[in-house]
Amino acid sequence: MDAHADKPIIPNVLLRQGETVKLGDDAANPQEISCDDIAKLALAMHDHSYFFSLCRGLSIRFSRDLNGSGTQGLFITKESNEADPPNLIQVLFRQTYDKDGEFLYEADLIMDRGKDYEPTVNKGKHRFMAEAAAMEIDWNSDETQQWRLDIERLSKSPDTLTGWIEDDLEMLVRCDSGFFCRKPAILTKKDLKQYIAAGLSLEDLKTRLKCSKCGQRRARIAAF
Ligand SMILES: [Zn+2]
Repeated sequence: MDAHADKPIIPNVLLRQGETVKLGDDAANPQEISCDDIAKLALAMHDHSYFFSLCRGLSIRFSRDLNGSGTQGLFITKESNEADPPNLIQVLFRQTYDKDGEFLYEADLIMDRGKDYEPTVNKGKHRFMAEAAAMEIDWNSDETQQWRLDIERLSKSPDTLTGWIEDDLEMLVRCDSGFFCRKPAILTKKDLKQYIAAGLSLEDLKTRLKCSKCGQRRARIAAF
């Protein structure tokens, strides 16, 4: 069971699927955000949760079933010692069966009945769309704008090691050998420059990366 499931949403902005809200009162430059805009921001932050945890002090939690019917949820809070810090962003997702319709991600549809005598059921890969999204932080606040800049930077993946240096990126290396072995390591710009000086290409580096936990050479790299 998930403690957040029954928590009321107390939003600055609360949007259901299909709804939009106008921001600010600048008539010359109107800005509108939709439920999907918030959902996409949250999902992108979840993709880079290691960065947002380490560098932005956020806790990003994905719940794969909130109510026993397969509703999934993404909850972004400030990391804190409080038992139940308020959500800055929360998004609820539900499965969609519309084959031609839009969806935001694919994932296993999990149904956890919340009863000890009924096992969790995995109904296989399904498409999910945002059902509702709430933000308790201003979309245009300095902090939120910084997150969007972070995502833009972290979404880069240059083809060459010199490209990584030029784009001011560090490299997050994760073991991809199995579910339980995801020990990440970070190669700093100094590290990357040393590899360049030693004549290594990005491809060379990828084949050399070895997990310090399990010894496998299957690494996934991402910008950090
Ligand atoms: Zn490993």
